[in-house]
Amino acid sequence: MENFENNSSSENRQMKQHFQRFTEQLSEWYSSGKTPELASEDTRFALELQKQKLKSLGLDMQVQIQDSEESSGGAAAIHYTDNVFVNSICCNNKQITTSIRSSQKELYSRTAPCVLTTIMQNPKQGGIPSPDTAMCCPHCGAPSTLGRLESGCEFCNTKFLMDELYPKVMHFFISDHGDARYDTNTLKKHIVRCSIFFMVISIVIIIINMCRGQLEHNSLLYELAVRSVASIIPGVMIGSVSWFISNLAGSFRLLGKYSRGASKTGRSLMFCHKMKELDPTFSAEYFRDKSLSLMKLMVFSQNPQELTICRCGRPIPEKLREIVDIRCQNSGINSYSIREGVCDVSVTFYTDSLYFRGGKIFPKSDKICMSLRKVITKPTDLGFSAMAVICPSCGASFDAEKVKDCPFCGKAYPLEENEWIVTDISI
Ligand SMILES: [Zn+2]
Ligand SMILES: [Zn+2]
Repeated sequence: MENFENNSSSENRQMKQHFQRFTEQLSEWYSSGKTPELASEDTRFALELQKQKLKSLGLDMQVQIQDSEESSGGAAAIHYTDNVFVNSICCNNKQITTSIRSSQKELYSRTAPCVLTTIMQNPKQGGIPSPDTAMCCPHCGAPSTLGRLESGCEFCNTKFLMDELYPKVMHFFISDHGDARYDTNTLKKHIVRCSIFFMVISIVIIIINMCRGQLEHNSLLYELAVRSVASIIPGVMIGSVSWFISNLAGSFRLLGKYSRGASKTGRSLMFCHKMKELDPTFSAEYFRDKSLSLMKLMVFSQNPQELTICRCGRPIPEKLREIVDIRCQNSGINSYSIREGVCDVSVTFYTDSLYFRGGKIFPKSDKICMSLRKVITKPTDLGFSAMAVICPSCGASFDAEKVKDCPFCGKAYPLEENEWIVTDISI
């Protein structure tokens, strides 16, 4: 038992170190373009799509992640597993500065307390994933398998140890805490402003009295001094109250932000319960992380219709083109149906996005609705990535993110048997 405790605490420490390293790698990606080593191939793909989109609009985005006062250092870990892998959810408070420039001109900059969440994948303790597990070479990105990467990538010859292939950051999310903060600087400002306001009123009253001749010239200075001092008292009182009210409004705004989507909790729970009956490895966290990552792909891709995961019949809303950064506050299930081993589900995401329109960047809160479909006859495979799949007909590995048919035998790859695909998106 003691041994187990020691193990789990050292695992936790390792997880925290990986989390911290990924934080640094992510900042570096935005500043120098260096690929974050810990990021999975799918995470890299989403980052790359966003970068291409920003570039096509002539924009450059920087994200600086710093420890905030509230960083507990304790990256809380929750896990979900399938037969082979365990995904750990690690998050921590961070101070994140997001700035967007277009050719030397700063269009947007904001520093806010945020929560950074990463989902890290490791093989289950004591378990070794099959050498046939499809995986991209972390060095050159070529689709391959775990076994082949361990004996040396066919394309770049790099050999990998298991320790170098895991953990992988499968997804990462940033959610904004908003502006509601009780800081003393704003309090001081409120008090000074209110005091000045009352002082001005006092002076106006003195001048009016003087003009009416109700005031002797020799008592003018005395009157001025008394009233100036006196105006500080209501200044402090009303200043504090107005500070309190503005903070309260901020808190309410934040509360409103977090409660978006709360009405969908019941249906979300029902959906997860039903799915768990059919697939015991299914978890609510897995579905939330997966759907959110697919939504990011749809938003960041310049041509979502070209993505293999996109099977939308209707045109993609033009509005999505204007979104350059997206943070999700919450998501929930609208409706779902399970028929003959095929699950159709509609999800709403409550998001805070940055839009680029008319040469300006502005923030906006949205509701994005997305329909997803998957064949659910196979259990959840946490190791699955469309970037490296194995053709069921000929056994060749290829990147199904870019082509729908196997380039070796020409058979269509049945993506929805392994992955959720997007059948509709609206905003
Ligand atoms: Zn390689
Ligand atoms: Zn094939």
